Amino acid sequence: MLDKASLIEFLAQPLKIIITTHHKPDGDAMGSSLGLYNYLIQTGHLVTVITPTDYPANLSWMPGNEQVIVFTDYIEKATNLIAEADVIFCLDFNALSRINKMGPLVAESKAKKIMIDHHLEPESFDDFRYWDTKACATAQLIYTFIVEVLEGKNQINKEVATCLYAGILTDSASFCLPNTTSAVHRITADLIDAGAVNYTIYDLIYDNTSENRLRFLGNCLYNKLEVLYDYNTAIITVTKEELAKFDINTGDTEGIVNYGLSIAGVNLAAFFVERPEIVKLSLRSKGTFPANEICKNYFSGGGHRNAAGGVSDASLSEAVNQFKLILPKYKNLLTQ
Ligand code: 5GP
Ligand code: MN
Repeated sequence: MLDKASLIEFLAQPLKIIITTHHKPDGDAMGSSLGLYNYLIQTGHLVTVITPTDYPANLSWMPGNEQVIVFTDYIEKATNLIAEADVIFCLDFNALSRINKMGPLVAESKAKKIMIDHHLEPESFDDFRYWDTKACATAQLIYTFIVEVLEGKNQINKEVATCLYAGILTDSASFCLPNTTSAVHRITADLIDAGAVNYTIYDLIYDNTSENRLRFLGNCLYNKLEVLYDYNTAIITVTKEELAKFDINTGDTEGIVNYGLSIAGVNLAAFFVERPEIVKLSLRSKGTFPANEICKNYFSGGGHRNAAGGVSDASLSEAVNQFKLILPKYKNLLTQ
């Protein structure tokens, strides 16, 4: 492990730096990565953001996006960059399985690995760790890493601020989750002062959908929502035929799970989607209900207490049935 002073000394020389984040990057993953990218390019480093997979179109507008390399599109180039890197920043994930086939490449690289993350139970593959599960977003940690560790507040320009604001906006569910503390609001105020245009960023992310996606959402809510009032739980399931019918792309299913929680009394919302080889589950919960525990124990996944995900090898209907069979174990917590 590097200590803080050695890290600062190491980063003081021009380096080949890779920034990476988890597969199917979300707003926090891209906002953190490009926020840090826009900071580091001002300080003389050669910086490349590599994502393990593609990401949604409504996240493709951030400053620096045109420089991002998607690993699955440029495997050879990305493999060489990872092997030759001096530093690899691992943002918004803490287990190498979350970066798919890039995992072994990062593990084998001679680069120093710096983990900046807010998920539970980190794996030990890093040389320096800036980790806080209380942070509402990794983008919040990138801000404090730049300001408090690197003392680089003066380099938080409009580009950096815009990306970090996008990360905090999306991971805090638009400043709604309990971890959106006054400290978070102070940081976002600083980001607005540094040039982030809050209403434009909201518009680019959330008012940027397609007609198909809106009709798909309508189908989910009207035809596919099941509410189990005995367990204060709402479930939405989506088949692969529906994904094809509505021409659903990467990221188009993002956020639909949250609608279940908007029903009065509902404490747990589940969203099951049938992908080509697996069923993907997203869970969201209110209060102290541990959504991550269900994902970890039954669906090979994990996440945060109020937002977690996992997968199943079973068929869609079997996975949903398995989930329903788990609910009685949590009845007290769900109905209190
Ligand atoms: P989502 O439902 O949006 O895919 O994921 C919600 C949260 O759970 C995110 O913070 C994500 O990092 C985490 N998560 C989703 N899928 C997995 C998984 O398979 N394993 C782990 N450890 N975390 C996951
Ligand atoms: Mn995050």
